[in-house]
Amino acid sequence: MEIKAPRGTSDVLPEKAAIWDYLESKVVDIFTNFGYKKIILPVFEHTEIFQRGIGQSTDIVQKEMYTFEDKGGRSLTLRPEGTASVVRSFIENKMWNNPLPVKLYYIGPMFRYERPQSGRYREFWQMGAEALGSDDPFLDVEMIILLMDYFRSLKLNKLELKINSMGCSKCQPAYTGDLKKFIEPNLEKICKQCQKRYEKNPLRIFDCKNKECQKIYGDAPKLTDYLCQECKMHFDQVKDALTENNEDFEVDKSLVRGFDYYTKTTFEICSPVLGAQNAIGGGGRYDGLIESYGGPPNPGIGFALGIERMILAMQAEERMPGPKRINDVFVVSVDKDSRPEVFKLLMELRRSGISAEMDFAERSLRSQMKQADKKKAEYALILGPDEIKSGVCTIKDLINGTQENIKRNKVLEYLLKKKRVNERKN
Ligand code: AMP
Repeated sequence: MEIKAPRGTSDVLPEKAAIWDYLESKVVDIFTNFGYKKIILPVFEHTEIFQRGIGQSTDIVQKEMYTFEDKGGRSLTLRPEGTASVVRSFIENKMWNNPLPVKLYYIGPMFRYERPQSGRYREFWQMGAEALGSDDPFLDVEMIILLMDYFRSLKLNKLELKINSMGCSKCQPAYTGDLKKFIEPNLEKICKQCQKRYEKNPLRIFDCKNKECQKIYGDAPKLTDYLCQECKMHFDQVKDALTENNEDFEVDKSLVRGFDYYTKTTFEICSPVLGAQNAIGGGGRYDGLIESYGGPPNPGIGFALGIERMILAMQAEERMPGPKRINDVFVVSVDKDSRPEVFKLLMELRRSGISAEMDFAERSLRSQMKQADKKKAEYALILGPDEIKSGVCTIKDLINGTQENIKRNKVLEYLLKKKRVNERKN
């Protein structure tokens, strides 16, 4: 048996996991400022939730879902995205009784059976936000600015914002009719899957990655030219508010994104420093989705960003946060007999809120000092028989190399004071 994580998955080792914590702490700050509250959702749902929400003819439902039968014979699916679950929860928990819009965010792993490559995995993490119960165009703009502000808080500067409108159930049929007319003479030339898409849901042809198909679709009619009065006004208001808030954007008329539920505004943010998989976040409005599940008609809008891809963009833009000192103190024992006293001091420090480590392999003094450095401690506290006898402790500042002796009963006070000063400096 090969000891290896399944294809398309990987471990997030401690050093990288610390960056994830940093990204999450930024989400908490910024999303909370915008009025979004955290929701924790199940990792799997009834398969139907995704089939109905994302759409039967989408690539995700057709090819990419991890679906299995549980021991009770239910068909369940590991979530490929978060919106369907949020909507299911909105209906199940009758959230429409809360002041609207209900604004939520989530963080967690998603699963899609895709062909893995750089920036594309089978298990990947998303942070997403959803606002349910309002069709105000300002909410669309709030969402877009939230996503942009979040990226900017990570000092990502090379961002391209694309927006489009998918229209609504009133304007889509006329468009779909004309799109079919456009495809018809090319039916022989497009790929087998697009031929199926043509039959079932012509809009999905734009998801096709085939170069030949893409070339043909370049001249296809554009949905934005078919918008009804209401959708046009909505789109104009979104564009105006983005401009008034100094948000640069480009209207990309072929931005349809891979989900059937979108109506009106869709948006995507790309990082030009990344390769083929350069979309780091995206979303859109889904005004008919709640109703399609049998819930009371309530519009909604949301987005998701991919953590792994965002980290790739941070690496490419050289915006990764530097390694942090993760321990305040490393307690060093001069000899074996000093270890019980060292262990006692270690516990005392930790219980007082100071992060502390010691050696668990009876290493020499020299190699404990090396350990202290490797563990990224700020101070080494050295205890040996002499120190124990005279009730003192040697404290070495590992950043600037200075060393002093202080009374054992003053150690805590000393360190807490240093820590407060450092926290103020940061
Ligand atoms: P989507 O849910 O498809 O709109 O994707 C939202 C974001 O999730 C994308 O912009 C990517 O950053 C990320 N993402 C989507 N699929 C994958 C994947 N297979 N691997 C890694 N990140 C992904």
